[in-house]
Amino acid sequence: MKITDSVDSLKGVGPKTAALFAKLKVNTIDELLRFYPRNYLSYDEPCDIADARAGERVAIEGTVQTYVDIKKIRKLTLVTCVVKDGTGTVKMVWYNSPFLKQVFHVGQSFVFVGNLSIRNNQLTMEHPEYYTMEQYRKMKSTLQPVYPLTEGLSNKTVTKAIQAALPLLSEINDVVPEAVVERYSLMPLTEAVQGVHFPDDFDSMLRCRNRLVFDEFFLFLARMRMIREHTVKAENRYVMSDFSEVDRFIEELPFELTEGQKNAVAEIRQDISGTIVMNRLVQGDVGSGKTAVAEIAILTAVKNGYQAAFMAPTEVLAVQHYESLTKDFEKYGVRVKLLVGSTKLSEKRRIYEALSNGEIDVLVGTHALIQDKVNYKNLALVITDEQHRFGVRQRAKLSEKGEEPHVLVMSATPIPRTLAIIMYGDLDISVIKDMPDNRKPIKNCVVGPKYRPTAYRFMYDQIKEGHQIYIICPMVEASENMEAENVTEYQERLKEVFPDTVHIAYLHGKMSPDEKNVIMESFARGDIDILVSTTVIEVGINNPNATVMMIENAEKFGLAQLHQLRGRVGRGNAQSYCIMLCSSENKEALERLDILNKSNDGFFIANEDLKLRGPGDFFGVRQSGDMLFHLGDIYNNADILKQANEAISYLEQENYPFESLGNIEENIYL
Ligand code: ADP
Ligand code: MG
Repeated sequence: MKITDSVDSLKGVGPKTAALFAKLKVNTIDELLRFYPRNYLSYDEPCDIADARAGERVAIEGTVQTYVDIKKIRKLTLVTCVVKDGTGTVKMVWYNSPFLKQVFHVGQSFVFVGNLSIRNNQLTMEHPEYYTMEQYRKMKSTLQPVYPLTEGLSNKTVTKAIQAALPLLSEINDVVPEAVVERYSLMPLTEAVQGVHFPDDFDSMLRCRNRLVFDEFFLFLARMRMIREHTVKAENRYVMSDFSEVDRFIEELPFELTEGQKNAVAEIRQDISGTIVMNRLVQGDVGSGKTAVAEIAILTAVKNGYQAAFMAPTEVLAVQHYESLTKDFEKYGVRVKLLVGSTKLSEKRRIYEALSNGEIDVLVGTHALIQDKVNYKNLALVITDEQHRFGVRQRAKLSEKGEEPHVLVMSATPIPRTLAIIMYGDLDISVIKDMPDNRKPIKNCVVGPKYRPTAYRFMYDQIKEGHQIYIICPMVEASENMEAENVTEYQERLKEVFPDTVHIAYLHGKMSPDEKNVIMESFARGDIDILVSTTVIEVGINNPNATVMMIENAEKFGLAQLHQLRGRVGRGNAQSYCIMLCSSENKEALERLDILNKSNDGFFIANEDLKLRGPGDFFGVRQSGDMLFHLGDIYNNADILKQANEAISYLEQENYPFESLGNIEENIYL
């Protein structure tokens, strides 16, 4: 058996399990070993029943008080018994496990571990794990890995498969050069992988994880360095010097550019009229007006006789950009087309042809824009919106094509300067610090569910004034696994609350791109008053007429994501509001939300978020933005990022042949 073999060559993994693993993109044993836990469960000291709270996962040490009861409800066998300690009782419930009758006898003691809930006024634990005191003592203070799963694949199966793969660990390929491993005293990769799956304790898990985070950053930075080698110093093959039409465009904008916008525009001009190709990042908080800067750059390219491409991370956003460009360029004779995944094949073919003939000036779309089939006549400018990673990969791709156009990346991700220099090492940076003058700061509040009726009344007043509203729910539909509002049921309930004159619609990621576009367009036209949505609307959507953003279960979102969501309002000159509805009384949750309540400044929020979260606090909070790594978090692991960066510089000094790292793209999530 070799590490490159398929997972089904492992003992205990059959073709069926292998097919499930394939869904998680785990095909080989190597990939299985690099399939890391998303969390860990610890087994703590059992607590008194009186101290245990519903909604928590706890361990309880108790004696069986009642005989095991078995009931059949249709196809389901329900097994229950009551367990007590000196302070209270808990009802234990299992499904389809009648054999448990032989396990539990009145008067015997066990440790039960599981999630507590309240059913019929009784503390209940569903499908608890159970251990004898002896077994539990051995397990206590170990960490059990929790893997990302798919329907039909249990955590136990994954754990066992990984255990079966461990003997092959010594074959794992360490891409980090030995010189670097030695210089920074990195833990051996084999030890790190083993320890991340099956850690001795929390601290050792962190140390192991840090090694893997280092690898991830290292590869990312090595990749960036290779791209930089190719592109940054490339000659400017598309020198632009005619700015007369663009000056007219700026003159005729319905607003005056802010200082930050003006600076960005000036820097872009300098780049594209100079001798070296532009690679620039425009960073500005949500709502700072990055699109106008993009438009100015695009118009410059077109009026100098070139083509431009404008890429967005989602179709919804691409459609929106397409519409504003079409409208804003109407008087300037610019031919704009849209190309997204859902564009009809016949239309795509027409676009490809027109593009290569030079009959299209600007192509707006998703990553479909840079696929191999797309050939431009004279592409001189590529702009990517809201996603730096997108930028990295696409630049690699374009430089392989040998086109080397000017590149402009727009990002709202707030990031400290020292980190920005590393993360965007291959880019020059323009920062838009100021917001347009006409903006009134968004008014925020954090409230509990009781406030909902008041919020609805407030919304109704706003609607009567002609404004529009977003309501965000965490989920698409109801789920057994999570207590949270869902879009589907929520909009139904909302229709009962508001009179028929209020138009309510919903939007979520499971809808087809066409359906989504129809909804977004009619929301933009003002035909929809309230849009109930999941976070699909998070990135970049612009409807200046929307004045209220209400977020249900705000506690379930990361701060960066909430800030992005809130950025959907406050984009025009009317006063806007953000209502964060918190359904938890958890003190930390409220503290976190209070940061947003106090400030509208993305940079401040990112910093405060970091302070609140301890170094071990790395799971699931920051789901948003363009800085997503698989394991690493540039904010929390800033030190490792700096170290990886230093390692790259060191290798550069030593003239290390970076090409020998091979195809890095396979190893990282660019
Ligand atoms: P973001 O930076 O988040 O991409 P947008 O470019 O979508 O922001 O701009 C948000 C809104 O602000 C748009 O409606 C845009 O027309 C408007 N806007 C942009 N620049 C200015 C300005 N200098 N003065 C007033 N409004 C502006
Ligand atoms: Mg934007």
